[in-house]
Amino acid sequence: MKKFIAATRNRGKLKEIGEILKDFPFEVISMEQAGITRDIEEYGKTFEENALIKAEEVYKLTGEMVMADDSGLEVDFLNGAPGIFSSRFAGEGATDEDRNNKLLSMLHGVPFEKRRARFVCAIAVVLPGGNHFTVRGTCEGYIATEPRGNNGFGYDPLFFMPEYNCTTAELEPEHKHRISHRGKALRLMVEKLRELKWNEEPL
Ligand code: IMP
Repeated sequence: MKKFIAATRNRGKLKEIGEILKDFPFEVISMEQAGITRDIEEYGKTFEENALIKAEEVYKLTGEMVMADDSGLEVDFLNGAPGIFSSRFAGEGATDEDRNNKLLSMLHGVPFEKRRARFVCAIAVVLPGGNHFTVRGTCEGYIATEPRGNNGFGYDPLFFMPEYNCTTAELEPEHKHRISHRGKALRLMVEKLRELKWNEEPL
C-alpha cells in the first residue's frame, strides 16, 4: 500500500487524522515512522503558507505523498491575534494556562458580543509528482471570561460555543472532532483527494 505521511508530532492530531482517514487506500504514517526527526521552521505569514512549508519539506526528504496542518485561534477584537503565533503567544516555554491567562488579560472588560473568535486549521497536501493543494476549516465561537472544562487542549477551556452552551473543553472528544476546524479541514481534504481520484481506488 502507498504511504501517506502526516507531518505532525502531535499524538492527538495523529489519532484524529487516522480516525478520519480510516477508509483511505493509503497507509497513514507519522513523521517519525517516515524517519524524520528534525524540526521544520514555520516562517510563513498565513496558516496555509506554514502548512505548505512543512508538507513540501517532508516531501523533499521522502518523495512520498504528505499532508501537514497549521492551526490556531483568531480573536476579532485583537485583529486576528494570536493567529499563526497561537502556540508561541506567551513566549517560549509557556504553558497553555499562561497563554489562556494572557488572552484573558488582553480581553479584560471587553463585552461578550465583542469577543468573537474562531479556530482555524489549514491543511496542505503534496501529491506524488509535487503538485499541491490546501484546504481550510474553521470553527466559530467567543472567548469566555474564565476557563471551563478539562477536555481538549490549548485554548479549548476559553472557547465558548453558544449553540452548545459550553466551551470546547467541555465537549466529548468525538463531538469536538465532528465540529472542529481540524475535523472540517480533514474532511475537505478527503473530498478533494476523491475529486482528484487519487490512486484510482474507491475512498
Ligand atoms: P499547531 O497547529 O500545532 O502549530 O498549534 C497551534 C496552536 O493553536 C496550539 O498550540 C493551540 O494553542 C492552538 N490550537 C489549535 N487547535 C486548537 C484546538 O482545537 N483547541 C485549542 N487550541 C488549539
